[in-house]
Amino acid sequence: MSSLEGKLALVTGAGRGIGRAIALDLARAGADVVVNYSRSRQQAEEVARQIEAMGRRAAAVQADVSQKADIDRMFDTVEADFGPVNILVNNAGIEPRADVCDFDEATYDAVMNTNLKGAFFCAQRALRTMRQAGWGRVISVSSLHELTPTGFSALYGMSKGGMALMMREMAKTYSRYGITINNVCPGATRTDINRKVLADPAYEAKVVEKIPAGFIAEPEDIAPTVTFLASNAARYITGASIFIDGGLWL
Ligand code: NAD
Repeated sequence: MSSLEGKLALVTGAGRGIGRAIALDLARAGADVVVNYSRSRQQAEEVARQIEAMGRRAAAVQADVSQKADIDRMFDTVEADFGPVNILVNNAGIEPRADVCDFDEATYDAVMNTNLKGAFFCAQRALRTMRQAGWGRVISVSSLHELTPTGFSALYGMSKGGMALMMREMAKTYSRYGITINNVCPGATRTDINRKVLADPAYEAKVVEKIPAGFIAEPEDIAPTVTFLASNAARYITGASIFIDGGLWL
């Protein structure tokens, strides 16, 4: 795989879970990495220190991606301190679970604003400078639920379904500028997003039973595909949703 040396990556929600694994993997491939976080500064700084220990440049930058003003402040800071973002990974996401009839307006707004609006406006900022540079990567961490309903969080499924069309809209008009735009779609992956539900062994057994590969993924099972999509080896892949789900969607 070609090296990402000299490229600047920004990964949202990268203090833990899948985002952390992606930030570290991109750094291993040679990229400098901006580690975005919303609230947990210490975790993000720890990830940034690990990246610096690999000899790369890194910084933990706060922004709540559900707020466009925060996104603009983050990009202004990053562009001033590091230069334009070459690889954007939209990873930040939330997944509140409830029955369709029990979701309130605040939860609706939080899910859509974090998962969909945040990804859109981060991509918008990144695409502007990528178009000028004639090279760029926008990779969004969507979900197998961009294709199939969840049965436990309609809002989450709706937001990820939106991410599928967001990515294809952008890929159709921006791939001509040397930019590729793709989604990775994890299946069940062991992180804080599902720690509570997977703590019930009976629930975990039910989930595993549905996965043809027979096990729940770790964040490190997701990250290498993002690094591949960021590389020049993947220059002809755009507008794709790549499922990393052990066959769960089947
Ligand atoms: P996680 O809860 O560990 O990570 C989510 C990250 O997003 C956290 O760092 C959190 O602080 C950050 N975040 C949340 N709201 C934010 C905001 N407003 N601004 C900035 N950051 C914010 O869970 P994860 O599983 O690592 O989730 C990462 C992505 O993977 C999400 O988009 C999620 O939907 C997706 N995903 C996860 C699974 C899974 O089974 N774990 C499956 C499919 C997709």
